[in-house]
Amino acid sequence: MTTVLGCIADDFTGATDLAGLLARSGVKVSLRIGVPDAPPTDAAAFEVIALKCRTSPVADAVAECRAALAWLQAAGAKRFFWKYCSTFDSTPDGNIGPVAEALMADLGVAQTIYCPAFPENGRSIFMGHLFVGQQPLAESPMKDHPLTPMRDSSLMRLLAPQVTGQTGLVDRLTVAQGADAIRAALGQLALDGVGHVVVDAVANADLDLIASACRDMPLLTGGSAVAAPLPALYMADGMLTGDTAKSAPPTAGGGGVVLSGSCSAMTRAQVAAYAKVAPSYRLDPLTLFHTGSTAAEDWLRDQDLAAAPLVYATAEPDAVRAAQSELGAGAAGALVERALASLALVARDCGARRFVVAGGETSGAVTQALGVSRLDVGAEIAPGVPWTYCHSAGHMIALALKSGNFGAEGFFAQALSKLDLT
Ligand code: ADP
Repeated sequence: MTTVLGCIADDFTGATDLAGLLARSGVKVSLRIGVPDAPPTDAAAFEVIALKCRTSPVADAVAECRAALAWLQAAGAKRFFWKYCSTFDSTPDGNIGPVAEALMADLGVAQTIYCPAFPENGRSIFMGHLFVGQQPLAESPMKDHPLTPMRDSSLMRLLAPQVTGQTGLVDRLTVAQGADAIRAALGQLALDGVGHVVVDAVANADLDLIASACRDMPLLTGGSAVAAPLPALYMADGMLTGDTAKSAPPTAGGGGVVLSGSCSAMTRAQVAAYAKVAPSYRLDPLTLFHTGSTAAEDWLRDQDLAAAPLVYATAEPDAVRAAQSELGAGAAGALVERALASLALVARDCGARRFVVAGGETSGAVTQALGVSRLDVGAEIAPGVPWTYCHSAGHMIALALKSGNFGAEGFFAQALSKLDLT
């Protein structure tokens, strides 16, 4: 099968989020963890490559994304999607702009769009400003993110220091006029030399119009939601054939575990809710620094995995700041990620076959530890969070990789109950 759309995601939950939305169409979606070593021989119509480069040094992120692009081109893709977080997680020397510019150069294109809107999850863009629910991004809990605190809500201002080209906007008033108006506005901006265009969207209907207007652009960038209409558009354009339908998901029996390294507001509520109904263990970065993760591993070995116990480093902003001032932000994060990764291995070796993981960086660390290289995408648990299936050390396992702010309060229990537990 020739790949129709090749996607590159800057973190693992972003990749599963995108893969889940594309899979809503019923078309087979394949998710690769990292750029595969081997050339593509078994490519699916939709290929998503999950990287862990959101907070990598720019040169590393650019090199990895260019390698992913080359692999997807070898799989036959002519259209590409650069997926980042719907809260535009990045710092002024972040990777969203530099990667987009490098991909544009490789593809020989002069313009792309930036549309992180995800209305079903409360992310909307108006006049170039990103909102989380009713709050501007910079007033939302994202202002306290451990790695990428967002202190501005203007996507053009966030993007400008990251790119060498000009930034511009197609605003909601234009989007509301339809696909032709969007195309015309993009054309005018292209004539004016504007290569990096933020596009407003406050509802799924806007995303349908944007996807329709931009479906033939070689490179699109954004959150997952603007890509969701693409499969239906490609089908209507005759670019997908009937033999691309996905197969039935496998079942992953056995025990479960919930691992949470996300400190996002929604995850904090989810951890609090789940700790009331399942055994739980709190990881403290300072304790990890001084005595390692042995105590947590011993605790997990003693648990009945049928109860899907929870291990979490999830903490309130004050506690995160305290750990960071003692250890440094990067080191504190890395300690927690390493601990949760080794706990995933303990859980697997004790029989866990269902893993619910909260946090994008955390999911990257856990999947890498489990030695997973390819995932098949299954049922959606909540918007942007599907169950995925893969092999680890010869066992079929199921992974639900949840980005920080996704899912409702009861997400962990809901995810576990959604899987067939035979
Ligand atoms: P999200 O999807 O919510 O952004 P991530 O896993 O991507 O979550 O990022 C959270 C980061 O915060 C990870 O690097 C994680 O290791 C780190 N972290 C988790 N708990 C703590 C804590 N208590 N103190 C400091 N850093 C933490």
